[in-house]
Amino acid sequence: MSTVLEPSRTTFKAPKIRQTGLLIGGDFRSSVSGKTFETINPATEKKIADVAEGDAADIDLAVKAARKALTSGPWGRMDARDRGKLMNRLADLIEENLDEIAALETLDNGKPIRDSRAADIPLVIDCLRYYAGWADKLTGDTIPIRGNYFCYTRREPTGVVGQIIPWNFPALMVAWKWGPALAAGCTIVMKPAEQTPLSCLRLGELALEAGFPEGVINIVPGYGPTAGAALVKHPDVDKIAFTGEHRTAQIIMAEAAQTLKRITFELGGKSPNIVFADADIDAAVAGAEFGLFFNQGQCCCAGSRLFVEQSVHAEFVEKIVDRASQRKVGDPFDPATMQGPQVDQAQFDKIMSYIEKGKAAGAACVTGGNREGSKGYFVQPTVFDNVTDDMQIATDEIFGPVLSVLPFKSFDEVVQRANNTFYGLAAAVWTKDVKKAHRIANSVRAGTVWVNCYDVFDAAAPFGGFKMSGIGRELGEAALANYTELKTVTVALD
Ligand code: ADP
Repeated sequence: MSTVLEPSRTTFKAPKIRQTGLLIGGDFRSSVSGKTFETINPATEKKIADVAEGDAADIDLAVKAARKALTSGPWGRMDARDRGKLMNRLADLIEENLDEIAALETLDNGKPIRDSRAADIPLVIDCLRYYAGWADKLTGDTIPIRGNYFCYTRREPTGVVGQIIPWNFPALMVAWKWGPALAAGCTIVMKPAEQTPLSCLRLGELALEAGFPEGVINIVPGYGPTAGAALVKHPDVDKIAFTGEHRTAQIIMAEAAQTLKRITFELGGKSPNIVFADADIDAAVAGAEFGLFFNQGQCCCAGSRLFVEQSVHAEFVEKIVDRASQRKVGDPFDPATMQGPQVDQAQFDKIMSYIEKGKAAGAACVTGGNREGSKGYFVQPTVFDNVTDDMQIATDEIFGPVLSVLPFKSFDEVVQRANNTFYGLAAAVWTKDVKKAHRIANSVRAGTVWVNCYDVFDAAAPFGGFKMSGIGRELGEAALANYTELKTVTVALD
């Protein structure tokens, strides 16, 4: 398959593209149809590579390979501790190739190299090591039932799991999904996002090198309505784990009902970030900047509704505008760059249309508000002030570098307004008053609440949504429940 690389103008270079095929049953191969799709460099709008495009026929082959690996391959019989060893070996290989994988992520997604090197890929490694430790710790219970019986539970792998992931953290989403699934002993068919298949395929190659038996990890790049839908429909897939938009989740949930598949969803958000007047204002400003602009605003938990108490509102806006306008936007391979391009034309267009909606609705665009440059999907860091709750920029997930500032006057008012959304993924509060912090933590309906910090993630800490932001939890011990079935065994003793 053809591969076109951009010439590198900076210290960090675009890496060689090693894999563009489907990973099925331990081999990289072309799709059954022979079709390919282009993956685009969002900084240049030029093709990076042609990638094999899977659809229903490839999904079927991948599911068969995953089922075989589970029922008759070495994986199903492997000691749990040895599964953990393989996972640690994979984490080691990723660490050995960190620079290359980080560069691949930056090339395909557009995220700044300093983020992919310092955040994304180290978090991938950490997540796999965390779950490697769980592989031999999935214990059951002994249960004192009536009568002369020995009753106990076993936690068995859910089976063949379909995992559908988005493009905003392509490699990290692989780790969040593979980690608990592999620890539990499941086999995997993964569909990466069509915008960003490359790092997933490279991780698949490293998984083979680490020694995962054939068919344990299968990867089928392709589009959602074809490859993704075929995975959801397949009768021999036991579970679907999906991260993406709530509208896609609604389609998946309806379809999964036909086969009563287990489902877990990690969806969008419109997270409130609440700043009280008694907060350390400079820390809150830095947190508000990071909480929204990190990853080009392409975070499901982005603090996109910034509630600022009226008495510090003017000072706060001045400071956040100062910081936002100083963010270095540009070539993601430049180590000084803080903000790269949005992932693709569709996301760019959507963000620009929301900026226009904000202006038309009468919100004050106090910095940014335009495209950056003329090539690549770059958007200026944008702040809207005096946003009201009914404006679309305050209700809809924009998934871009667009911050809405909403002034508030009282505690009860801000709780009511923060919860006035069908989302419930994350929230944050900035205050020096410990009682106020805990009252907010208890009052907001969100799966994660950060107090005097933002976007603090750890493989051990569960993450997921209330309301329409998701079903189930990722990370931590909680995620293992998504990949195990509980079996009760009762043995007559007389
Ligand atoms: P985004 O807007 O972030 O791309 P999506 O929910 O559209 O969010 O996509 C997330 C993932 O879901 C991608 O891998 C995409 O291909 C996949 N997807 C999209 N539509 C469907 C569908 N109908 N069935 C299964 N997967 C889908």
